[in-house]
Amino acid sequence: MPPQDQSEPFPWHLGVYDAHCHPTDTMTSIRSIPSMRTKCLTVMGTRAQDQALVAEVADTHGVKSGDPGKWPSDEYPTPFSKFLAQTGDRLERYPYALVGEIGLDRSFRIPFPWRPEEGPDRDESLTPGGREGRRLTAFRCNQKHQKAIYKKQLQLAAEYRRAVSIHGVQAHGMVYDALKELWQGHEKEILSKRELKRRGADHQTAKDGVEAEEEDLKPRPYPPRICLHSYSGGSAHLNSYFNPAIPVDIFVSFSTAINLGDALENETPESFVEMIKTVPDHRLLVESDLHTAGEEMDRRLEDIVKRVCGAKGWGLEEGVERLGKNWRRFAFGTDG
Ligand SMILES: [Zn+2]
Repeated sequence: MPPQDQSEPFPWHLGVYDAHCHPTDTMTSIRSIPSMRTKCLTVMGTRAQDQALVAEVADTHGVKSGDPGKWPSDEYPTPFSKFLAQTGDRLERYPYALVGEIGLDRSFRIPFPWRPEEGPDRDESLTPGGREGRRLTAFRCNQKHQKAIYKKQLQLAAEYRRAVSIHGVQAHGMVYDALKELWQGHEKEILSKRELKRRGADHQTAKDGVEAEEEDLKPRPYPPRICLHSYSGGSAHLNSYFNPAIPVDIFVSFSTAINLGDALENETPESFVEMIKTVPDHRLLVESDLHTAGEEMDRRLEDIVKRVCGAKGWGLEEGVERLGKNWRRFAFGTDG
């Protein structure tokens, strides 16, 4: 598929949103956020130590909420239960915070500990700590354990009714199964046209207005919205998420970095086009998944937006507007 018509100016003014990125890996890049063309970054934490940094970025550049304060940054030896409680405190303090990224990774191996004294040839622009390319041990983390941790994080998101950014590597079935275990028994009733008619038009509108709002506030054991970030599984797994009975609002996001092997300027592979086509229009998001904020992040977003628009047959303005609307629904639960 040929790239989009390059003569059309890119509609940054309509608001481009990065659904998943890691600028806190390069804290020196954070100061470039205000000069970026991208409107909002959805900043992920991947390690316990990241949360204090993400909170710091939220305090200076965030969608305003809560009053800023200092969080402990020494979160290395924290037991998981304490970490989870701390995460809950942060969700409370930052009403626009999401949970993520979390997920399952079959290829994960435990890294060697980070030793500051190993530092002479370290890259000074990177945020110091465990995120610096550590060598990996031969030790894996068993799937049952990963799933148990993942489920607890999903339950935390459910408790605070926050969206979740989910990562799956060679574990797409299990990522789905854990979610399903949470929403099981809460599936939406799907009525056939005939059934709708039989029950009368009233039934369709019964859950509008106040009743729908009350319904929304009821505690649920599953998160309200999830995003499968840089989705790399097959379309069979993906299709199971689009079952209309699923009570979670599902989003799927794509990045040039992961989904296209960083192949900027290249033609879009047909397999990618097909994958984009299988995702319903209102469930698509774009992301950079980059570890540094700034111009490159803008460039990647422009690239992925153009490719998604190409695959969907959307004009750039139409596409940016749709994707922006989707992101606002994912992040805030409403696209208004
Ligand atoms: Zn990520």
